[in-house]
Amino acid sequence: MKWTEDIQGEIPVQALMEYLELWDMLEDISVQEGIPDRHIWRLSASGKYTAKSAYGALFEGALSFAPFERIWKSWAPPKCRFFMWLVAHNRCWTADRLARRGLPHPDHCLLCDQEEENIQHLLIGCVFARQFWYDILHSIGLAALAPQSDVSSFDDWWDKAVLTVSEDARKGLNSLIILGAWTIWKHRNDCVFNGATPRLSTALNLAREEALLWSLAGARGLSPIHSS
Ligand SMILES: [Zn+2]
Repeated sequence: MKWTEDIQGEIPVQALMEYLELWDMLEDISVQEGIPDRHIWRLSASGKYTAKSAYGALFEGALSFAPFERIWKSWAPPKCRFFMWLVAHNRCWTADRLARRGLPHPDHCLLCDQEEENIQHLLIGCVFARQFWYDILHSIGLAALAPQSDVSSFDDWWDKAVLTVSEDARKGLNSLIILGAWTIWKHRNDCVFNGATPRLSTALNLAREEALLWSLAGARGLSPIHSS
């Protein structure tokens, strides 16, 4: 039953995220009265469609979609895939982004209280995050993949980590990394919005509970996490 409640509980959050996303896309657009709309082909400098620019865009898309392949090749539920999509676009509402919009934001990362918060720090640079990844990966015998202190890009780390395991294990590892990132984000939100105290054991328990739910929903390869 908890799974159902969780999903229902996420719907308003997702709707809000979509609203913010739309806001983001429209913020540079101003509607001018009396001027008729016209079509602009954004992929060419002239604003006019050409087959060449469309063909070129196909390859551009192929290159910039690398993280998405990892997101789709996972057992993660849609809410978490959507979150990873925001991460890949650097569009999570962390302190840096809130500050740019002049919105209230935490002065420091809530999880370490040492550095400024942005999504790369939160998911990979933060001492809290690094210990979290170590513990999660250690529980499945992959502690060697835990991010070191010199890693600053979550996507680069993920990219390299996945290449170190066999092809059969990649979907499981992708799922685990998405689950971990989602857990850090949820724990961070609990600290920001509910005044929770950051605690590694709380985050690890949350990850185990999520892993169990995902396994029940059909994700194979996550059982070592929730039974550890
Ligand atoms: Zn931090």
